[in-house]
Amino acid sequence: MAIRLTESTPIQFIKGVGEARGAAFARLGIETAGDLLGFYPRAYEERGRVINITDSIDGEICSLVLTVRETSAVRQIRKGFSVFRSIAYDESGSIELVFFNMPFMARSLTSGRRFRAYGRVRIGRYGREMVSPKLEPILQNTELPYYVPVYRLSPPLTQKVIRQSVLSVLPLCESLPELLPKSVIEKYELLPRSEAVSELHCPTTPESLQKAKKTLAFTEITVFRLALSQLRSEVRRENACPLGLKNTGIKSFFSSLPFELTNAQKKAVKEIFADLGNSYPMARLLQGDVGSGKTAVAAAALYLCVKNGYQACMMAPTEILATQHKKTLDKFLSPFGIRTELLISGMPASEKRRVRAGLADGSIDIAVGTHALITDKTEFSSCALAVVDEQHRFGVKQRKALLDKSENGDKRAHMLVMSATPIPRSLSLIIFGDLDVSLLDELPPGRQKIETRIIPSQSRDTAYQIIRDSVAAGGRAYIVCPLIESGEDSDGQENERVAAEEHFKSLSEGELKGIPMGLLHGRMKPDEKASVMADFASGKTSVLVSTTVIEVGVDVPEATVMVIENAESFGLSQLHQLRGRIGRGSRRSVCLLIHGKNSDESADRLKIMRDTSDGFKVAEADLEKRGPGDFFGVRQSGEFSVALAGASDIKMLASTDSFVKEILNQRDNEEYKPLFDAAERFLERNGDGRTVN
Ligand code: ADP
Ligand code: MG
Repeated sequence: MAIRLTESTPIQFIKGVGEARGAAFARLGIETAGDLLGFYPRAYEERGRVINITDSIDGEICSLVLTVRETSAVRQIRKGFSVFRSIAYDESGSIELVFFNMPFMARSLTSGRRFRAYGRVRIGRYGREMVSPKLEPILQNTELPYYVPVYRLSPPLTQKVIRQSVLSVLPLCESLPELLPKSVIEKYELLPRSEAVSELHCPTTPESLQKAKKTLAFTEITVFRLALSQLRSEVRRENACPLGLKNTGIKSFFSSLPFELTNAQKKAVKEIFADLGNSYPMARLLQGDVGSGKTAVAAAALYLCVKNGYQACMMAPTEILATQHKKTLDKFLSPFGIRTELLISGMPASEKRRVRAGLADGSIDIAVGTHALITDKTEFSSCALAVVDEQHRFGVKQRKALLDKSENGDKRAHMLVMSATPIPRSLSLIIFGDLDVSLLDELPPGRQKIETRIIPSQSRDTAYQIIRDSVAAGGRAYIVCPLIESGEDSDGQENERVAAEEHFKSLSEGELKGIPMGLLHGRMKPDEKASVMADFASGKTSVLVSTTVIEVGVDVPEATVMVIENAESFGLSQLHQLRGRIGRGSRRSVCLLIHGKNSDESADRLKIMRDTSDGFKVAEADLEKRGPGDFFGVRQSGEFSVALAGASDIKMLASTDSFVKEILNQRDNEEYKPLFDAAERFLERNGDGRTVN
């Protein structure tokens, strides 16, 4: 039965898909033909850039146009394992193609046939070879595509199946509604939307692919920013409990702190207190470099809230951080009779029940926790303030969910979002456009400047010597393990775990023998993590080998050495975050970036780390060098597509910004209606707290 293809056609009815593949598509979040159309490639193979065999270098992935000279018989090596080889040539020379377990291919590789071969060249003792290249026959009158798209996979789907399925739905592009007025498309040198989507799946030239990415990025950012501004005006129309300063004893809170607030902290507190006094909810971002003292500012807001007779909550991205915040808040707030409790998923069920009961009956003032806080089971009796730490890890969805959760009758909670990732202004508008911003642009006095050194891999002994010396002097050290590039199907977190475990083992038996060491990775249970962290904080262990789980917020003032293995594989902002784990006490601290790969480009990037300690400068440099992808690419909340990561640069962010500013107050202009409608749909899809997973 032939069915008419529309955007809502279920995926399994698409030609060649069916039940089993349909289920695999569903695992990728694709349920309809329209979803598939919006499933953009994650990368492209540039097969049209053909080189001569003899120009290829060892290890290079490249494209060759070859004629088959001869093909060997298929040899059965053992059961279920076969191999055959072909010799092929171009005008520059010849290469051997090796095929494992592909006996059926041998038949098509007859002498004289021509192929485009794509794969990795190895240069061995007997010359060049390519193992299991991807072959495309060269036929008369058909041109092979310059780019071949690469999609995210879920077995049993293969690239070929996805590509073919995409081809079947591509005609739908024609009926895609245009979101941008023609004049805008022309002014910003974009493509019509239908063309852009089609081009993204089947690129014709490098230039048009670039233009397609730019078009979709421009559109997406615009829609997202309109959605944020919509959210912002919605929040303004909500009610909240005004929190006043009167009779709260706030002065005694400030004088009880073990330090005087910096001017930046004072200014932020003032801004926050002004917001809290309003009868509509605060929605404010507190941005400050690592160590700038955001927690104390948050504590002041929490204090004010509780002394006004309401509850508050604080949410952190990891259990380690939540646990640490609980401790800090106790220190600041318990002297005033304020009761703070931890709520994380790693706690025993009975504990959780007890805390939830205390939140419901109002006997607990402040809950500190992870996402568990926003799950359905937690009810507050009267929550008026929600603090979210390290917000760049949360999406709009979570932000909205938290607001919904902390609803208090017909009133919304005030929200304070804290971020330690210095985000350049151009990006922060995109990520946090719905929030007002307070900036902590000053560090507490007396901080030692952290010395940063770049150490080539072969001189890594220097790093271990520095660790041994510092431990002998009573200090502590972090060693952060490399991010291993994960292949298409492998699991990055698992790879990191293996890397950290192996490194831990070899160091504790070798270079750091005799020093008490801990190991921390994302695959450990929450209570294991907490106890490893506690051992390090108390000094029971002096060296902590870890994956990037320590990245955010962890505070151990005695730690003075940070060693980062394969530093070149991290983004600069992430390196800056990691570096912020040290230099928190009064002792001299040193960050050692071990440079595993000797390329000038990565060395240049690392030099920025060595030469600047200002997080904003680091972030600007990162944005310039790597584009915004790393700020909200894969690791972000999935609110943006891949197109954005690859296409946008500072210039295009700026042009989107000026466009958004231009149209924000033209809600009634028919020309922009499709954009505003798309923003509305975006909020419906992403802004609904109940759909948080
Ligand atoms: P971050 O902004 O990275 O979250 P924290 O709130 O963890 O920073 O603060 C870092 C350290 O600085 C903590 O040990 C905190 O007690 C200390 N601190 C915060 N404010 C001040 C201040 N005004 N003077 C001195 N030390 C401060
Ligand atoms: Mg912090």
